[in-house]
Amino acid sequence: MSMQAVEMEQEVVVVGAGPGGVVMAYLLARSGVKVALLERHVQLDREFRGYFFQPLVVKLLDEMGLLQGLLEKEHYKTGSFRFIDRKKELFSVNFFELKPPYDYGLLMHQPLFLQYMIDQASKFDTFTYLSGTRAAELLTENGAVAGIKALKGKEELFLRSKLVVGADGRYSTIRKLAGIEMEQESHTLDFLWFDLPGQPEGQTGNIQIQIEEEGMLIYTPKGAEVTQVGWVIPKGTYAEIRSKGLEAFKKQVAAVDPKIGPLLEHLQDFKQVSVLDIQVAMAKQWVRNGLMLIGDAAHIASPFSGQGNSLAIQDAVVAHGVLMRALRDAKGPIPADMMAEFERTRRGPVEKIKKIQRMQAKMISIRHPLFVRFRRTMLPIVRRTPLFKKMRDTIAMGAAPVRVHEEYRKAK
Ligand SMILES: Cc1cc2nc3c(=O)[nH]c(=O)nc-3n(C[C@H](O)[C@H](O)[C@H](O)COP(=O)(O)OP(=O)(O)OC[C@H]3O[C@@H](n4cnc5c(N)ncnc54)[C@H](O)[C@@H]3O)c2cc1C
Repeated sequence: MSMQAVEMEQEVVVVGAGPGGVVMAYLLARSGVKVALLERHVQLDREFRGYFFQPLVVKLLDEMGLLQGLLEKEHYKTGSFRFIDRKKELFSVNFFELKPPYDYGLLMHQPLFLQYMIDQASKFDTFTYLSGTRAAELLTENGAVAGIKALKGKEELFLRSKLVVGADGRYSTIRKLAGIEMEQESHTLDFLWFDLPGQPEGQTGNIQIQIEEEGMLIYTPKGAEVTQVGWVIPKGTYAEIRSKGLEAFKKQVAAVDPKIGPLLEHLQDFKQVSVLDIQVAMAKQWVRNGLMLIGDAAHIASPFSGQGNSLAIQDAVVAHGVLMRALRDAKGPIPADMMAEFERTRRGPVEKIKKIQRMQAKMISIRHPLFVRFRRTMLPIVRRTPLFKKMRDTIAMGAAPVRVHEEYRKAK
């Protein structure tokens, strides 16, 4: 069997075309940086992913000048996030109370977003997209990362660079190859997800969490045609649910909201159900000589309040500013200390979001009747306090200001 080897010189190699990777590659390409973006899948419709983008992402896309074009694609503007406890609306997080024009979140099929960003980056001749190409090894030079070896089918590619960005998600190969450890946080819940056609009667298109005696149900509309349904379970109990059978599971889900009953006909096999083993973790290091981790590769947030996409995109935007200065000054692989500002700037805000998520997880997993009563009494009151508004703003607009570095844009 003959192997072909291809050599390429890049300034930056970004591994992974998730939300973090596509934004990073786009910003670098339009700043005149020679950048290659690698994605191991040929189709962008890869693993089951989040469709919700916080209002901050809307702002950042607007700053990039890409929002109007994106809004021409199929999307849904989300004005609020409702929390129902024992049939009663306890509170809602109202994005429409935020300062216009960024007073909504965006629900969009993730592959549409990713493809749009790749199309925008492709307008710059400094950009190369390598789909169906898997990063397999790190190339090193005097102890620094100096590129990667990738595989496209049987073809071997050697990409040499000043920087490799690991934007390759929670199971990051780049992080593992670099031997960077994750600090894991324990978590007591898992999520099950499945899609149903249409929307349950009375669903207005907003995200809704409903807690009843029988369980916790989350609705996320994916356009008018499809609703993504989430079901929260105690960690490690999915095997037990499966062993009781699909009908028993459907009955339990419908007991929380009977309106979902007719739609559940479309759930005919556990194969339609994805399990999200909730992991919350943080990489011990985000930068090394010639290497940077962003998004889920650096930190995995819990799914509460849909933060993963926003955090990955914020990382890319902040890293872009830091890298433009470092690329100008570094002759070979970028030294870690030239990128330390990125890790310093981003760790704090990611920690803050995780703290809010821990609190949310605690609040919703309460089962003791006394605490349940406390939650029902307290939350509507808390909802009106400045503290709640501050938390809402942090969830929607991030824990620290982030802006796109327009000054590095090269006119096309
Ligand atoms: C079920 C579910 C629901 C979620 N819901 C939401 C939500 O509503 N809102 C939200 O904000 N977040 C949500 N999240 C989290 C969100 O999807 C992630 O935080 C986000 O996708 C992280 O982006 P990323 O760019 O860091 O990595 P990813 O999106 O994970 O992308 C990494 C990419 O790297 C590629 N890759 C991996 N290894 C290699 C390799 N060796 N070579 C080449 N390519 C490689 C992968 O194929 C992938 O395309 C959800 C997650 C799940 C699982």
